[in-house]
Amino acid sequence: MIKDFKLIEKTKVTPDVFEMIFEVNEIFNYSYWQFITFLLPAPIWWRAYSILDVTDWNKIKLIIKRVENGRWWSKYICDSEVWTFLKWVWPAWHFTLKENNKNKLFIATWVWFVPLYNQIIWSIRNWLNCNIKLLFWVRTDEDIFYEDVLNEMKNNNSNFSFEYYISREHDLHHNFWRVTDFITKENISNFEEFYICWNPYMIDDSINILLNLWVSKEQIFTEKF
Ligand SMILES: Cc1cc2nc3c(=O)[nH]c(=O)nc-3n(C[C@H](O)[C@H](O)[C@H](O)COP(=O)(O)OP(=O)(O)OC[C@H]3O[C@@H](n4cnc5c(N)ncnc54)[C@H](O)[C@@H]3O)c2cc1C
Repeated sequence: MIKDFKLIEKTKVTPDVFEMIFEVNEIFNYSYWQFITFLLPAPIWWRAYSILDVTDWNKIKLIIKRVENGRWWSKYICDSEVWTFLKWVWPAWHFTLKENNKNKLFIATWVWFVPLYNQIIWSIRNWLNCNIKLLFWVRTDEDIFYEDVLNEMKNNNSNFSFEYYISREHDLHHNFWRVTDFITKENISNFEEFYICWNPYMIDDSINILLNLWVSKEQIFTEKF
């Protein structure tokens, strides 16, 4: 069924990434790790967005990158003014977290972080008895977002940790180069499941590194977009 989302808050978290909060006029019946699909003004145009979080039962938080060289729709959404209504269809999902106590490593970059963040908060809110680590790659310091949120989560949950990787510049507080650097036999020895959300090339790259380290295919879960 087609419904309306009202944009009620928009925050620029990096020069081209926006945190956007939409309100729906009813209880938003949502399960974790779902995405919604916006139906955009011209017929047949649609774009999918992972749900970052839902608060107060009817406020849906998304994180959207304004893609400069895309087919325009992310710009249309990111440039929308607060109080704009956008049409959307009910959530769907296919990238699911395994609800078990196996130690989990999450590998993300930029807005591909969104579904993984949602899986991480579900794990924490549901007291999964496992270690959770997030590796988060961006290009430069100014591309970093949610560091405060992740720090707070880390301070409140001894089983959660995270590391940023920055590939285009050095700074004192973050790792230099790509998250795939982390994937060594020693570093991954404590993890039993691997969740990766990225573009198709980097996912294939990460899977190959893991398979070469004797991780089995059944331990790897991916989402490409
Ligand atoms: C299940 C699913 C969940 C998604 N969740 C999110 C999300 O939480 N946040 C989000 O910003 N986008 C998300 N996307 C991508 C989103 O649907 C759009 O593709 C994106 O906003 C670009 O739309 P566009 O019309 O501007 O460009 P398009 O014409 O759709 O894309 C143009 C090119 O840009 C690439 N591209 C798409 N997204 C990015 C990106 N973030 N960075 C760099 N290149 C990109 C595409 O692969 C394509 O090659 C998701 C897609 C899917 C399928």
